[in-house]
Amino acid sequence: MKLYSTLDRSVVEIKPLVKDRISIYSCGPTVYYRMHIGNIRAYVSFDVLHRAFLYLGHNVKRVMNLTDVGHMTNDTDFGEDKIEESASSEGVEPIEIADRYIRTVLEDFSKMNILSPSGKNIDSKLDISRVKEYGFLRATEYVDKMIEMIQEIEKNGYTYETEQAVYFDVSKMSDYTIFTGQALDEKEEGVRDEVNVDLGKRHPADFVLWMKRVDRYENHSMYWNSPWGDGFPGWHIECSAMSIDALGNEFDIHTGGIDHIPIHHPNERAQNIGAMKNPVVSYWIHNEWLVVGDNIKMSKSEGSLVVLDDILNMGFDVLDLRYLFVSVNYHIKINFSKEALEGARNSRMALVSKLRKLRKETNGSGNILLDYKQWFEECLNDSLNISKGFALINEMIKSNEKPEDVLTTIYDFDKVLSLDLEASVEMQGLDVPEDILKLVEKREEARKSKDFELADLLRDKIGDRGYVVVDTSTGFNIEKI
Ligand code: AMP
Ligand code: ZN
Repeated sequence: MKLYSTLDRSVVEIKPLVKDRISIYSCGPTVYYRMHIGNIRAYVSFDVLHRAFLYLGHNVKRVMNLTDVGHMTNDTDFGEDKIEESASSEGVEPIEIADRYIRTVLEDFSKMNILSPSGKNIDSKLDISRVKEYGFLRATEYVDKMIEMIQEIEKNGYTYETEQAVYFDVSKMSDYTIFTGQALDEKEEGVRDEVNVDLGKRHPADFVLWMKRVDRYENHSMYWNSPWGDGFPGWHIECSAMSIDALGNEFDIHTGGIDHIPIHHPNERAQNIGAMKNPVVSYWIHNEWLVVGDNIKMSKSEGSLVVLDDILNMGFDVLDLRYLFVSVNYHIKINFSKEALEGARNSRMALVSKLRKLRKETNGSGNILLDYKQWFEECLNDSLNISKGFALINEMIKSNEKPEDVLTTIYDFDKVLSLDLEASVEMQGLDVPEDILKLVEKREEARKSKDFELADLLRDKIGDRGYVVVDTSTGFNIEKI
C-alpha cells in the first residue's frame, strides 16, 4: 500500500517489517470530554486504514492509548493536567472523569462503526475493565514502563534533572526537528514562557519526561513513586512506552492528527532514539483537520463543537457522517457544514436506492466479481483512494454484470467502507418511492442542462406526489411534505 508519510514528505510504498503483517500504534483520545466530530474524523480515517489492511489480507496488530494522566492543557509542560482540572471542577476523582469519557469513546466508536484497535467490533455497553482486550491501553496502567524507559534515556545521556522535573535534552538529538524542518531556534517561540516557570530548564524545546510533585504540583492527586521522587509522567513518554511495550522495538505505522507533527511526535521519536537507539517507527501518518466556517479547526477551545448527538438531533444518520468522512482522503481537509452533510446523505441514499433496485432484480445468491475486487484493492493501495472506489461501485452498478454478483461484491467492499449497506438495503420504510426518485433524477438532468422550465415542471410533479426537492449548495434533499 502507498500512503503519504510525513517524514518522507511524499507518498511512499509501505513496506512492513514482517511480510503481510502490519503493526500500528494510534495516538488516542485524552479522556476528559466528549469527543467532537473532529476527533471522530481522525479515528474514522485510521479505521479505514485498519480495515483496508485487513481487506488486503494483512494480519494487523494495532493498539491505541487512552490518555488518563499527564496531558497538559495547551500541550505545554506546566499547564494543568486536563483530567485533574476537569475532576476538580466537577468535584470528583480523576478516575471517574477518565472512566466516564472512556465509556463515551466506546459509544461513539460503536455508533460510527469504528473497529476497536484489536479489530473486534465494539459493543457500546462494553465493560470498561475489559478495554485492554480490545487494544485500548490506559496510560495509568503503564507508568512502570514509562519509568523504565526514562531510566534508559537517562542512562544513555539524554536527560537532565531540575528541582521540578526530569527533562529530555533536545540539544543531544541532532535531527530533533526532522518533522518540521524548522531550526530549533524558530521552534522556541511557542514554548518560550516555559523556561520562566522552571529556571533550571535549559532550552525552551526541552520537554518533561517526569514531573515532580513539588511547587505548583505539590497537591497533584495522581502521582507515583519514581527514582526522581513522587510525581507523574510527561505526556509524550506515554506513547513511546506503551507503543514499544505492545508492538516491540520496531513497528510499522504510527498515526495521529497533524497537530502532533511539531511537538508530540518529534518528542516521541526523540525518546525512542534516546532509549532504544533507533526511531522505532517506520512511517508516521497524519490525518488532516475537520474545519468549520472560515477554515477554523474544530477544537474544544474554539467553542464551535459538534458532537455525535448533534448530528442525530439535526435529523441525520451517523452513517451520513461516516459517508462524508470515508469519502474524503485522510490527507485532505474536510470543511464541515450542514450542506456537506446533506450532500453525503444524498449520495448515501442514492447509493442505497440503486442497490435496492438491484436487489429486486437478484436471482439467488451471488459471487464476488474478482476483476472489480482487484480494482478496488488497487484503489485502497493507492493511498486509500476511496473516491475512486465509489466511482468503481457506480460503474459496477451500471454494468451488465448479474445484479446478485454486483450486490455481493459491493457488500464485500463495505467491509472497508462500513456503511451498513446490506442492512440499509434490507431496511423497510425509509424508501422514497421509485417513481419519485426517477422524477428527481430527471429534474437533476434538466437542471444540469439548464432546462429550467422542465426542471420546474418536474418539481411541481414531485410536489403533487407529496415530496419536495430542497436544493442545497452541494446537491439536493428529498423530503416528505
Ligand atoms: P485529543 O483528545 O485532543 O488529544 O485529540 C484526539 C485526536 O483527535 C488527536 O489525534 C487529534 O489530532 C485529533 N483531532 C482533534 N481535533 C481534530 C480536528 N478538528 N480534525 C481532525 N482531527 C482532530
Ligand atoms: Zn501519542
